[in-house]
Amino acid sequence: MHFPAIDDFYQRFLFLLPFVANFRSDDRSFSYDDPDMWKFSYPKCGGLDQSPIAISNRKALPVALPPLEFGLYDDLFDNLVTITNNGHSVEFEVPATIYGVRPYVTGGLLVDCYEAEAVHFHWGSPKSKGSEHVLDGRRFDLEMHIVHRNNKYLTLREAETHNDGITVLAVLFKVVRTGPAFYQPGLSEVFSSLLHLGNFNSSYTLPEQLNLGSLLGNLDRGNFFTYKGSLTTPRCSPAVQWHVFADVLPISHRELPKFWQLRDQRRRPLLNNFRPLQSQENRPIFHRKPFLEQQLQEVIWL
Ligand SMILES: [Zn+2]
Repeated sequence: MHFPAIDDFYQRFLFLLPFVANFRSDDRSFSYDDPDMWKFSYPKCGGLDQSPIAISNRKALPVALPPLEFGLYDDLFDNLVTITNNGHSVEFEVPATIYGVRPYVTGGLLVDCYEAEAVHFHWGSPKSKGSEHVLDGRRFDLEMHIVHRNNKYLTLREAETHNDGITVLAVLFKVVRTGPAFYQPGLSEVFSSLLHLGNFNSSYTLPEQLNLGSLLGNLDRGNFFTYKGSLTTPRCSPAVQWHVFADVLPISHRELPKFWQLRDQRRRPLLNNFRPLQSQENRPIFHRKPFLEQQLQEVIWL
């Protein structure tokens, strides 16, 4: 017996299944075409304390904070790093170090210890710059996020639901036209891997063992802005203590275009994967300057 209406129903349903499954499995069903619409599916995206924001050197409050401590950042991972094109960015999970635990940060305004979980990037296009944070009115070419989970919570998903759940280190990059005038071994490895990550869901395992500190190059780790904000992708949970370094790292004009060749889930170029600026509201932005540390030391010596 044949029931055309039912057949038709099942055909439609089967056609939709992959989308339904994808929507349910995680929160990857957002698009940078319409970030203003995120709040309709993810209410926190329309809430308070959102990121990214514009940071002004002049308006930030200088504070004499202790430095951030980078635990195990310079120790090798016990496993090779596998980078994946997830359709919104390229991302890798941070492996444990040879000591069996992941690198972590503490210090500064952080009361607890935050384990490094994952690293990903935001970028623009051949026509526009694509950092998420804007510094002194300037958007940069690329922004790297190292996402850390407060180790009193077991998973990132759990950490997201707490005010003190997550800290992110953000590094801005500026394209430079010089040759190999700078040496950034970890970053070069990551940028080279992009040629293997063109399609959605493709992965590539780096051939060399890395440590997390090598992604920071020779950045001045003592000079940063810090404020309370959110994840910049859905669910936009306001659970993040942001650390945006004032120092900007170089990226070669040969490396940056490799980001523009990546493709998303719909095989379209994966470009401009940055969220628009959010309102600062009344949030204070603190600036830890290394010279304050020096001044304090001078006071102590006197
Ligand atoms: Zn990010």
